[in-house]
Amino acid sequence: MTVTAQAIPMLSDNYSWLLREDGAGAVGIVDPAEAKPAIDALDAAAGKLDFIFLTHHHPDHINGAPALAARYGAKIVGHGADAHRLPPLDISVHEGSLVEFGAARLRVIEVPGHTLGHIAYYIADGGILLPGDTLFSLGCGRLFEGTAAQMFASLAKFGDLPDDTLLCCGHEYTESNARFALAMEPGNEALIARAAEIKALRAKKLPTLPVSLGLERATNPFLRAVDAGEFARLRAAKDHF
Ligand code: ZN
Ligand code: FE
Repeated sequence: MTVTAQAIPMLSDNYSWLLREDGAGAVGIVDPAEAKPAIDALDAAAGKLDFIFLTHHHPDHINGAPALAARYGAKIVGHGADAHRLPPLDISVHEGSLVEFGAARLRVIEVPGHTLGHIAYYIADGGILLPGDTLFSLGCGRLFEGTAAQMFASLAKFGDLPDDTLLCCGHEYTESNARFALAMEPGNEALIARAAEIKALRAKKLPTLPVSLGLERATNPFLRAVDAGEFARLRAAKDHF
């Protein structure tokens, strides 16, 4: 039994993720910005939807949820502390919550920073991390509500996940992130190789995600920051890059 994740492009640069569990056949979707592309993907794949998993309250992550919940009878999962600014939750979760997804489970990790109520989901069966707007390939989310110290601590919570974990992020920001990362670490060979791969993928309009956490650890300046101070300087530099 395992879980697989498939990117569904939405809006201009968002990714929603279609999750399929091959034991009981559970189907979920993460952060649907829109209903229509999700319906097209779901009807081509499974014709049903059991869960809608939300990482945070921004419109480009939740706006499709009510229509999908109504159409498929799917349960909406999100952070209980943010229930007041999320669509009505059927399942309220917190740090350490385990959500049964067929025979698999999603583990909830609270990751304040981009927003204070932001959560990530980790699926050990399949090795999938859904960080929303907390971690991007070669970048991280902007600090709209939290502090740099909070975001640094949030990213550190991913530190014990295996290198082969697949990062399924909320946006296709990788190509512009690569320009900043290369400016920070011009001599990083792994980053130079990844930047070339990204350029080739984007020239063909292909997604640069998912990417392994191991590759990000070798190439993403925000994951490579050694302390909150260095992280804060990087985040501030990126905001003005
Ligand atoms: Zn966001
Ligand atoms: Fe977003």
